[in-house]
Amino acid sequence: MATYQQILVAVDFSDECRQVIEKAQELAVQFDAQLTLLHVVEYTSTIYAGDIPLPEDLELDQRMAEQAMQRLSECSQKLALEGIQLLVEMGVPKLEIARIADQRGADLVVIGSHGRHGLQLLLGSTANGVLHQAKCDVLAVRVEGS
Ligand code: AMP
Repeated sequence: MATYQQILVAVDFSDECRQVIEKAQELAVQFDAQLTLLHVVEYTSTIYAGDIPLPEDLELDQRMAEQAMQRLSECSQKLALEGIQLLVEMGVPKLEIARIADQRGADLVVIGSHGRHGLQLLLGSTANGVLHQAKCDVLAVRVEGS
C-alpha cells in the first residue's frame, strides 16, 4: 500500500474547498504526512472583462496574493490544522499546482473534482490539467453536488 509523506492541497476558496481540505487532512493523519495548502492567484492580465483584456496591474496582483495568504491562514485556523504549510503562487493554477508539487517533492496532490469553474464537465479544467501535468499521484475529491 502506498504511503504519502508530502500532501499538497489545491485550495480555490470555493464553497466546496472545505471538503477537499478535510479529505486531505484525513489522509495526512492516516499517513502522518506533511500537509501544504496552495492557492494560485491568476494574474490580472489573464482575467478578461468581456472581450477586453485588462492591463497588467502588479500592485493589484501583490494585494491579491496577500489576501489569499490571509484566507489560507483563516482556513487553516477554522479547521484547526496544525503544523501545516501555506503557500500562495501567481500564475496559471494547473501549471503552478503541478510545478509546486514537483518542486516540493509532493507525493500526492489533492484537488477538488470541481471548483469555481462549475460542474459542466466530468472533471473541472484545473483538476483535469493537474492530472495530465503532475508527476505524482493525484486525488480528485468528488465534491458534493457533482
Ligand atoms: P475547477 O477547475 O475550477 O473546477 O477547479 C477544480 C479544483 O482545482 C478546485 O476544487 C481546486 O482544488 C483546484 N483549483 C482551481 N483553481 C485553483 C486555484 N486558483 N488555486 C488552487 N487550486 C485551484
